[in-house]
Amino acid sequence: MAKWFTEAWSAGVRFSVKYARKEYAERTPHQKIAFYESDELGRFFTLDGVMMACEKDEYVYHEMMIHVPMSVRPDICRVLVIGGGDGGSVRELLRYPQIAAITLVEIDERVVTLCERYFPQTSRGLRDARVSLVYADGAAFVANAVDAYDLIVVDSTDPIGPGEGLFSAAFYRDCHRILASDGILVNQHESPYFAATRREMIRAHEKIASLFPVARVYQAFIPTYPSGHWLFGFASKRLDPVADFRAGVQDAADIRTRYYNGEVHRAAFALPNDVREALAPKSK
Ligand code: SAM
Repeated sequence: MAKWFTEAWSAGVRFSVKYARKEYAERTPHQKIAFYESDELGRFFTLDGVMMACEKDEYVYHEMMIHVPMSVRPDICRVLVIGGGDGGSVRELLRYPQIAAITLVEIDERVVTLCERYFPQTSRGLRDARVSLVYADGAAFVANAVDAYDLIVVDSTDPIGPGEGLFSAAFYRDCHRILASDGILVNQHESPYFAATRREMIRAHEKIASLFPVARVYQAFIPTYPSGHWLFGFASKRLDPVADFRAGVQDAADIRTRYYNGEVHRAAFALPNDVREALAPKSK
């Protein structure tokens, strides 16, 4: 009989993938992790029953998370990644020779260890000499951090379970404090389609926009995330992602991308009216 992985996208909508084998599953001290092999999507892994990354489309999420800020400030040198234990964001960052130091703060060491074993597509750069791995809660890490970062990447799970603190006002305040004056914060920003993720999208944006002079949201099409319509946040103290966009940054470094390009960059910030309205400042 066929075996199906099923994830609830909302109370009334589910997403299912037929899989050939469950490669491995474990309950870590923080969450449940499982790796599956499927014909259609290749290898994929889940945390607490939620799809994190699959071989077929993980490049969309990771390219959009990294190449957008790198095309606004190409001389980014010091990077902090919060979450992202699968290594996909780090993989994209390592393609830039100008990046000297990447600190990855992942709450769950088992995500790193198991992705290295079962998901090499994203995790292969995690032992690079430029990467420092820290196993800690990202919110606690930034609360105590004093270093200045050029880029902070919040590659988190949804705001339930261990990821909750990474959507709090205190967390964004600490990120603002430790970001260099030309620094950029990017974060996974949920989806506008279903009520629960739409609520989180609005709440995250309100908090970020109250702290950062530049707070923009951009979108990508990621078929295996709820609704496929997924958002990212771009915040900075000065740099605007469209006005300050520099074309050709990847060409100069001979970086080939499968999803990201200059036209996608500009277009990603053009939001549909209903998303714009949901994110517009509310009159009190
Ligand atoms: N692309 C993914 C998505 O949205 O489906 C996110 C990928 S990544 C695997 C998310 C990582 O954030 C997980 O490995 C999880 O352990 C980590 N994480 C969750 N809460 C965290 C926290 N408070 N501090 C640091 N890492 C955290």
